[in-house]
Amino acid sequence: MARALIALGGNVGDVRATFRKAIANICGMTQAALLARSSDYATPPWGDVEQAPFVNACVEIDTCLDAHALLFALQKIESKFGRDRRKERRWGPRTLDLDLIAYDDVSLNTAELTLPHPRLFERAFVLVPLAEIAPDRVIGGRSVASALAGLSTDGIERLSDAI
Ligand code: ATP
Ligand code: CA
Ligand code: CA
Repeated sequence: MARALIALGGNVGDVRATFRKAIANICGMTQAALLARSSDYATPPWGDVEQAPFVNACVEIDTCLDAHALLFALQKIESKFGRDRRKERRWGPRTLDLDLIAYDDVSLNTAELTLPHPRLFERAFVLVPLAEIAPDRVIGGRSVASALAGLSTDGIERLSDAI
């Protein structure tokens, strides 16, 4: 059994509804137990800023799948919820993005999968929800809370639970 942190993002369609269904799918398809789920956050777009705001969240799961099989399952779930990489631009609009942030303390750099996620420490939109559920988790030698302390959280807003 491994413990994994997954970041969710999207800015097309009813993203919060997509997250609810996607998390149910993650648990079903990856033989995972949901240990924690952050709130949803509205966040400014990153990279390609000429697009709608995003919703972001993070979950922590226990899974029996190995890291590559977990990534493959996450990509299947993205497709199921309308993600089509062939039709999108880098860091552009998407219905659902599921990034594997960390998988136990595995460090990996293959063509398909880099662990921990290589851009984690640049991204308050990932670290804010992550800090809600795992502030003391050490990833790549840094705690989530201390990594977040070095970033601006301007424009990131926690969304109310009542949806
Ligand atoms: P970013 O990786 O900067 O967040 P993105 O999520 O928009 O950008 P995608 O188009 O979703 O990028 O993914 C591009 C590729 O990244 C995928 O095909 C996948 O194989 C690879 N990848 C490498 N490491 C990871 C990881 N830790 N989690 C998810 N995908 C990863
Ligand atoms: Ca991403
Ligand atoms: Ca991705």
